[in-house]
Amino acid sequence: MIHGIEDPHGIMFHHFHDENHPIGQGSISSSQLDDLLNILKKTHIILEPYEWFKKSITNTLKKREICITLDDNLKCQIDIAEPVFRNHGISAFWFVYSSPLINEKEYLEIFRFFRSKYFSDFDSFFKAFMQTVQKSDYEQVINNALKSFDPSNYLKAFPFYSTKDRIFRFLRDHVLNKLQYDQLMISMINEMNIDVKNISENLWNAKGDLLKLSKSGHFLGLHSHSHPTNLKVLPEKSQLDEYHRNNEILSSIIDQPIKAMSHPCNSYNEITLEILQSLGIKLGFRSNMKKTANLNHLEYPRIDHSILIKNFGL
Ligand SMILES: [Zn+2]
Repeated sequence: MIHGIEDPHGIMFHHFHDENHPIGQGSISSSQLDDLLNILKKTHIILEPYEWFKKSITNTLKKREICITLDDNLKCQIDIAEPVFRNHGISAFWFVYSSPLINEKEYLEIFRFFRSKYFSDFDSFFKAFMQTVQKSDYEQVINNALKSFDPSNYLKAFPFYSTKDRIFRFLRDHVLNKLQYDQLMISMINEMNIDVKNISENLWNAKGDLLKLSKSGHFLGLHSHSHPTNLKVLPEKSQLDEYHRNNEILSSIIDQPIKAMSHPCNSYNEITLEILQSLGIKLGFRSNMKKTANLNHLEYPRIDHSILIKNFGL
């Protein structure tokens, strides 16, 4: 199957695996990445991020022009993907959330690592999670919410999620608040006698890595400070705080103004876009291919690498 989308868009990468980074949901190996890039090059033109940026703000992007983007500032991206990009002579956008850079614990990624490393698959994790829920204070709230929930109507733009994925994400992002969800997950980790500090040490790139990336032609951008999974429901002040801190930290690391971003979990609203504009952001990316009513420079579509890997049978 050929990647037939002609409108300019980004390819969105997240997790990669090898002997040091565990296989997780949607993660790919360096050889899968290599194969994917070879296939894409046959039908599309992969632009350097600086060129994509220039063309996007001057509305001169052409059909079949794409760019490479990586979200979440993950160490597996530098360890595994960056050498492959280098072999192909490609640079990328790196969208960085900043809390781990100032040693604030960010559980989103810690929890994902926990799921990947300590459970054989998502279903076995989901089973253990639901058992923890049934013993917790939130049992009633969750059971009530699930009574009227139809997974097939939730996250429709992400066809690769299973039914259990959809239920889990619904509970995490809409039924529980962040504190409650974190508390449930931490109690699971503690029950298994696992040290969170150990987990967090190998997850994110450090400041020096980011400076190196920036100096070697990669284009760094914002991705909020603490990566809320549902940013658009936050009040204006909290949204501003998320992007303002993110901007301060990242621009001081690479000693340059930041001009691009991607929306964490695709969550944003009009207020978010105004905030980004006020911070001087000129280019932004969504996390799916849904078209927006008007061409907006802060809402460029991206296709998830898992969709392409599946389509190409890699
Ligand atoms: Zn993200």
